[in-house]
Formats: sequence, structure tokens, C-alpha cells
Amino acid sequence: MSYQTYADIIIDISHENLDKTYQYAISAELEEKAVIGALVIVPFGKGNRRIQGYIVDISTESKIDESLIKPISEVVKDSQVIESHLIYLAYWMKEMFGGTMNDSLKTVIPVKKVVKIKEQRSIQLAATPEQAEQLFFEYQRKNSKAKLRLLEALRKNNILDYSEAVGKLNIPRNTLLSMENQGVTKTVSKQLYRNPIQYKDKSDQNMLLNDEQQYIVDDFHNEYSAGKRGTYLIHGITGSGKTIVYMEIIDSVIAQGKQVIVLIPEIALTWQTVQQFLSHFGDRISIMNSKMSQGERYDQSIRAENGEIDIMIGPRSALFTPFQKLGLIIIDEEHEGSYKSETAPKYHAVPVAEQRALLTNSSLVLGSATPSLESYQRAKQGEIKLYHLTKRAKEAKPPKVFIVDLREELRNKNKSIFSRKLKELISERLGKKEQIMLFLNRRGYAGFVSCRSCGHVMKCPHCDISLTSHNDGKLICHYCGYEEAMPGNCPECSSKYIAAFGTGTQKVEELVHREFPEARVLRMDMDTTKNKGGHDTILKAFSEHKADILVGTQMIVKGHDFPKVTLVGIIAADLSLYTGDFRAGERTFQLLCQASGRAGRDILPGEVVIQTYHPEHYSIITAAEGNYDSFFEQEMMYRGMMQYPPVSHMLLILITSKEEELAGKAAVQLAEAIRLYMGQKAILLEMIGPAPAAISKVNDTFRRVIYMKQREYTILMDIKNYLEGYFTYSQQFAGCNLLFDFDPMTGY
Ligand code: ADP
Ligand code: ZN
Ligand code: ZN
Repeated sequence: MSYQTYADIIIDISHENLDKTYQYAISAELEEKAVIGALVIVPFGKGNRRIQGYIVDISTESKIDESLIKPISEVVKDSQVIESHLIYLAYWMKEMFGGTMNDSLKTVIPVKKVVKIKEQRSIQLAATPEQAEQLFFEYQRKNSKAKLRLLEALRKNNILDYSEAVGKLNIPRNTLLSMENQGVTKTVSKQLYRNPIQYKDKSDQNMLLNDEQQYIVDDFHNEYSAGKRGTYLIHGITGSGKTIVYMEIIDSVIAQGKQVIVLIPEIALTWQTVQQFLSHFGDRISIMNSKMSQGERYDQSIRAENGEIDIMIGPRSALFTPFQKLGLIIIDEEHEGSYKSETAPKYHAVPVAEQRALLTNSSLVLGSATPSLESYQRAKQGEIKLYHLTKRAKEAKPPKVFIVDLREELRNKNKSIFSRKLKELISERLGKKEQIMLFLNRRGYAGFVSCRSCGHVMKCPHCDISLTSHNDGKLICHYCGYEEAMPGNCPECSSKYIAAFGTGTQKVEELVHREFPEARVLRMDMDTTKNKGGHDTILKAFSEHKADILVGTQMIVKGHDFPKVTLVGIIAADLSLYTGDFRAGERTFQLLCQASGRAGRDILPGEVVIQTYHPEHYSIITAAEGNYDSFFEQEMMYRGMMQYPPVSHMLLILITSKEEELAGKAAVQLAEAIRLYMGQKAILLEMIGPAPAAISKVNDTFRRVIYMKQREYTILMDIKNYLEGYFTYSQQFAGCNLLFDFDPMTGY
């Protein structure tokens, strides 16, 4: 017998075994049903035991001697199990974004962490109150002290925690057993999930939606109830009340028996947002975040699969929650860079969510105050439905924004990091007992260290990037963690004028203390939020007005609502403006809008001070005006001129190797292969490189990049597929690694 197609089949769909596939043949009559993800029955092992497995890949080549390959016995009919669906999604992601099927499966399948299931055991009274009273006298008579103690405690409480009862009351095991055998007590055990959240009673504040909000909720509900599915974008300015709109939409979808996934950036997954959802949905919602243990996360996905919850809220990875009856996915702050995976497959949550929605007949709702250019362009072209929230939900007016030219400050002999305007407003707020946020897009004590005499910059010997100085006197590499002591003299010219430049959050905090000794200051950055609950502690303290000023990195600008904050200061807007990648302008606009959005969210009016060396830059001007459309127009012009996404698509290829020569050679060879391929297929595309990456060495690994621009995504996909094949089957690439990144969000 000979077969044309073969299937790779996973027998045990758990993380440890995702790479253990077995090849089976697909007979002609099964060909149509044997698709990727399908649940099948195959003969296994010597005895040909019939067991179940999933098809994860299909090919026309046999990996072993053809005659040894057994055929698939049967495709399980209508196997609409969640695993099938996730496996297909993984396959789609691999095709779209590159990497191996194994990488992809590891992304979508939850890590099964087999840990001892926690049990809660308790002791209850089994006897009736009358019997108990009789027993009481009997135990007294017999002087059974231990029995008496337990009986008394149970008569008071009815139910006791097992270990507490046995331990505190000092009841021997045998005594307990004999009481149980006589039917006096009984032991009850309940399985406990590792539950990361404490539920509160449902307690809605019964807010009345405004017209704009109500329109969205109604329109969405009408379309959904009529069976219409699609992608929607809510463009709502900060403070316009997107959260309540999401919650109302979720309510209406759940009422139709469906389940919902809500993605929010990790940084915004703090107690404020979580509390809001918890108090609305009670124990029907669960949460995932990266600070939870694998066991905790696994439990949550099991609860989701069993239908014990209707809503999962979490960062990017929550997108793969194994809901059986998914009906809606919401992605809040859809423009956020953290929706892009850092590892292969380098997928973006938005297209993957759209694909999952398509496969499950769900809708997708995106929301942002500053939508990504990708989504907004699609909305303008009518591919996705656009909703607007143009007003702040509370009676608050948009804040008043001042742009301060830092060059002007220097000319006026102000060398402080606070402009005169910012200083004046801080003092005023402190006097009025209102709160202030100072925002800096950079962590650490200060920036890079350089010599004022010769210009030498201290760099990491492994990564070729500048070291960052921290206030414990250490210079640290933020890529590989290398550290060394701050030198007393310049290693190049021995001059003693070597010092830290730039400003970090610690430095700002220190300077605030110096300028405003009476102010109470909190700092929030990577260093102060390392521990579990670190974010929450700081934000909670600030919201309880235990500090006047909160200094922080971009994590302070995400999704927090502090009614008493009436002033936001952006110390150096330029820090994100010249980071060397094509999204820098967009990122700056987003950060400035979001930071401004923190001021005056309640009755008290807000003011914002943006300090910059480039007050004429359109990202800064449009952000100050809160004019998204104007920013969009100008930025799209730039993207069009340069053929950057979303006007064109871009594919980055990163080639890495421990040996510099190997990386260089491989990059040249791949570029050559691309040129050949283009010639054969008569494709026109722009290629940049190969060249050393901007960060040419990380952790002693050398990095080369090739960039390509093409309007047709599928052409870039073809090139990726071609290169993956070439790379895998060519000996010359041994010792090298290949990574693909479509429409990159970061520099390399
Ligand atoms: P966004 O996420 O769009 O920035 P939020 O959802 O955080 O805005 O809402 C901003 C504030 O407005 C919150 O304090 C919220 O409780 C309040 N809010 C939202 N909708 C209404 C409404 N219809 N009436 C009164 N207050 C509202
Ligand atoms: Zn020097
Ligand atoms: Zn380094």
C-alpha cells in the first residue's frame, strides 16, 4: 500500500510532550477529514492499542521507512474539542509569524503543572443536637477529655477546620476515628483551587451610561444578537469610560451563554482595574498574570475549560484561555507594544485574536485612546467598525497642556531638571494638597556614563550598548545583566570628569526631595515593583493620598484613576522620540496622551507640563492638543513616504550566532538566497542589509539583520517559508539561529 500524505500526531497533549510526534499515514478516504487539529484514533505500539491523538502537521514526506508507517484508523467525528481548535490556531500562527510548530504549540497549550491538589478538610457534627447533649454527659461521666473538647467545640461552631481542630484542640487521630465510626462527627474534604483572587460580593455602583457609551453598547448588542460577528474599534479618549462599556458588552454576550476573554496590558493589571471587574462580575471572572505561579495559571485554565467561569482577564497569554463557548474577545489599549510576543512565534495579539474569533464565531472589540495606526487605518477603510467616545465620562474637562522648551530654560540659566513652569505648578499643588505625577520614560538612577573631557562612553563588553549607572555606584547592562563599578577616572584619558548623564527615576525622586523637602514622594519603576504585589502596594498608597508626588516610568501612566491628581509633569518627552525605530513618533504620541490623561480625571481641573528640546515636533504638538486625527494624518504621510507599516509590510530577519564570522556569512548567504528567489518569482521588494543589528551583540551572541518591505503580506510569508526550509536543510547554517519578525514593534 502506498499513501500520499502523512500526519504528525501528538498522543499526549502536554507541554513536556509537545515535541513527541508520531507519523501516521492518511488514507484516501480520510483525507478530507484529517486536517490539522483533528482528533484521531491510531493503532499504537506493538499490540496496536487504539488510542487518541491530535494531528499537528501534515506533509508528503515520510520520516521513516514508508512500510513501517501505520495508517490512521479513524477521525473522530465532529471533534470540536478545544484542543483541536487551539492546535489549528497554533498552526496558523506558525504560518503567519514564523518559527516551529513546537514553538507555536508551546504558546497556546497551557503548561500542565502537576502539583498536589490542595484540599480543605473540615470536621462537622454528624449527631443531632439532642444526641450531642446526651453524648456530652456520657463523655463527662467516662472522663473522655479529648472527645469532650471536640464535642464542645463542634456544639459551638458546627464546623471546624480539620488541622486546626486536631492541632489546637489536641485530639488524637484514634479518638477522632472512633467518634467518626460512632457517627458523632464526620470529616468533609473539598478540593481547593489555587485561587489568586479574593472575591467580593457583586456590588455595582449603578452608573448611568452617557449617550455615546449607550450607543456603543446598544449597537454592539443589536448586531451580536442578530448573529453578526466582526471586529470593532472603540476610539475613546482617556477618561471617556471605556471600562464600563466593555463590562456592559460582556454582560450582554454572557447573557447569550457565551464566554469572554479580556486582554489588558500586564502593567495595567493592577488592583484598580481588577477590583472594577471583580465587583461587577464576582466569582464568574478569573485573572491571569505573569506573577502567578504556573500552577495557579494552570488551575485557572482548567476552571475555564470546565466552564466554572465566564470571563478571563489577563495579558497577551490569556488569549489562549481554553473556553469551549467563546463569544467575545476584548483587547484594551490595543496599541500597546506588549501585545507582541518577544519570542518565536513573534505573534501580535490583535491578528491572532481576530483569527480565534473567526474560528469560533466570536466578535473582537479593540479599544484605545490612541489606536495603533494599523487598526485605525483598517477602521477608516471600513474593514472594522469604528466607535467614538469623545467626552470624558465624569464632568471633567480635558487638561490644559503647556509645552516647555528646555533650550529656553538653559538660556535663562535654569539648569534644574524642572522648568520654571513645572516648579511653580508643583509648589501650587503641594499648597492645595492636590497630587502630582512626574513621568520619565527611563529607569535607573541616571542614564549613560561618559567622559566630558574625551567623550568616552562606558559600554557593556558583551552587548555593545551603554551601561546604565545606578545609585549604588554600579554600572549595569540592561540586556545581559553585566555590572561593574563606576570608575573614578576615565579609562581612556584618565580625566576625572567622568559622570552620569541623563536622568533616571531615582534621580528625579532625589531632586524632588531637594527642591520640595516637604513633599511626600513615591517612586514606581522596574526596581520598586520587582516583587509580587509591588505595583499594587505603591498605587494603593498613592490613591490613599499617602504621598503627594508619584515619580515613575511609563507604568504609572497606564489605566490608573486618581481623582486628586491635577498635575502631570513629563520630564523629558524626547527620551522616547529618538529611539531609532520607525514607531518612535507614534510611541511618543501615545505616551504623552496617556500621561496627560492622568491629570484632572475628576471634578478638579488638570494641567500638564511637557518638557522637551523639540517643541515643534508634530508628535508633541498633536499630543498636547489631544488631536489624534491630526497625528494620524501626519504620521501616515511619513509611513507612506518611507514605505513603513501599515502602508507597507516589513519583515525583519535576525540571524544570531556565538561566532561573529558565522553570523556574518549566514546573513550574506540568506540575502543572496532572497535575491535569487525574487528573481525566480519576479518579485519586487526592498531589502535592507544584511548589517549588524543596532545592538550588535547580546550576551556574547552576535546579531545580523535583514529588513524587507513589501505591500503584500503573503509575499513576505512565502519568503519566510522558503528561508525556513533553506535554513533547516543547509549544513552551512549550523551554529546559527534565525528569527522572523513581521511588522516589528521594537528596534534590534
Ligand atoms: P478610560 O478607560 O476610557 O480611560 P475609565 O473607564 O477608567 O476611562 O473611566 C473614567 C472614569 O469615569 C472612571 O472613574 C469611571 O468610573 C467614570 N465613568 C465612566 N462612565 C461613567 C458614567 N457614565 N457616569 C459617570 N462616571 C463614569
Ligand atoms: Zn576621557
Ligand atoms: Zn550586556
